[in-house]
Amino acid sequence: MNKEEITKLICITCPKGCLLEVHHQGSTVLNVKNGCKRGHEYARRELVDPRRMISSTVRITGGEHPLLPVYTAEAFPKPRISELMAALRELTIKAPVRMNQVVLEDALGSGINILASRDMGKSGK
Ligand code: SF4
Repeated sequence: MNKEEITKLICITCPKGCLLEVHHQGSTVLNVKNGCKRGHEYARRELVDPRRMISSTVRITGGEHPLLPVYTAEAFPKPRISELMAALRELTIKAPVRMNQVVLEDALGSGINILASRDMGKSGK
C-alpha cells in the first residue's frame, strides 16, 4: 500500500486562491486541510484527472481578421494540452463563423468540442 503523502495545491476555483493541503495515498484523497467544499472537490479532481479550460486562436480565411479566438467547451485534460495546442495550430477554418459555433469537434478524441469565442464575418475586401 502507498504511504501517505501531502501535496500542497492552490485552489483555482475562485479568486480567493486558498492553499490546500491534500493528504493522500496515490490518487486516493484521505483528507484536505484548508479551503471550502468546492476546494476539496477541486483537490480530489486535480489528483485523479486534472483539467483546465483553454482559450486560444485558430487561423481563419476570408474573415475580418486572420485569427479567430476559440475556447474549450469543457475543461480539457491537462496532460494533453500541448497536443491540443499543436492541433489548433494546424487548424484553418473559413469565415463566416458564429459565436459558440463548433470549430473542432471531439478534439483529439476527448469528446470535447472547440468553440468560437466570437462572431467573425467575411472580409469586406
Ligand atoms: S477553497 Fe473555496 S474559497 Fe478557497 S479558492 Fe477554492 S473555492 Fe475559493
